[in-house]
Amino acid sequence: MTVINEFEEKCSVCGKTSPQPVMMSTSTFGYPDLDLRPSEMKRSSMFAWLHVCPHCGYVASSLENELEVPGEMLKSEEYLTCGGHDFKSKSSKMFYRQHLISKANNDCRSEFFSLLHCAWACDDRDEEFAVEIRKMALKSIDRIDAEDEDEKNNLMLLKADLLRRSVQFDRLISEFKDVIFNDTLYNDIISFQIEKAMEKDCGCYTVEDVLKDTNQETL
Ligand SMILES: [Zn+2]
Repeated sequence: MTVINEFEEKCSVCGKTSPQPVMMSTSTFGYPDLDLRPSEMKRSSMFAWLHVCPHCGYVASSLENELEVPGEMLKSEEYLTCGGHDFKSKSSKMFYRQHLISKANNDCRSEFFSLLHCAWACDDRDEEFAVEIRKMALKSIDRIDAEDEDEKNNLMLLKADLLRRSVQFDRLISEFKDVIFNDTLYNDIISFQIEKAMEKDCGCYTVEDVLKDTNQETL
């Protein structure tokens, strides 16, 4: 189960303190989605993945971490309005703002994952923005310089799912039809993505769906 406690945290930007959620423990049961979104219980803990200062609007994994760009950006129109996106959920806003800070800081890896997490939050509440946020994530994923083969493969799997979930079926098929990994499951996932793209299916699927599709044993 997920245990989240609150602790007072001092914001490094405005110096004020506020109670912030800290995840003490969590667990997952079942397979992740094809974009690696974890299953429950961790799935529902997203609101606690970042901290938001109620006084100045700073967003970070810990408010004690220093903001590495000029503090004025927290007062910018783009930051305050989330780039004009009228998000309903606090999580969508929080991850979108983290992406703006990461972008200003030239951290394309953090920029990408913030947008991916924002897309997940959109799936839950702000559905109308989910496709657009995935398209933004796709723009940042190509700028990530993968640290090793594992990360490169993970990013490719993520890219395939982002393309399909953002209704870019033809692009997914042309970019991935000749891709071959050294890992059977990864190849099965890509075949599954191409199959769904050919059916023009932009729905959410899990790794379990791939295993069932290829008649493999599941948990
Ligand atoms: Zn603050």
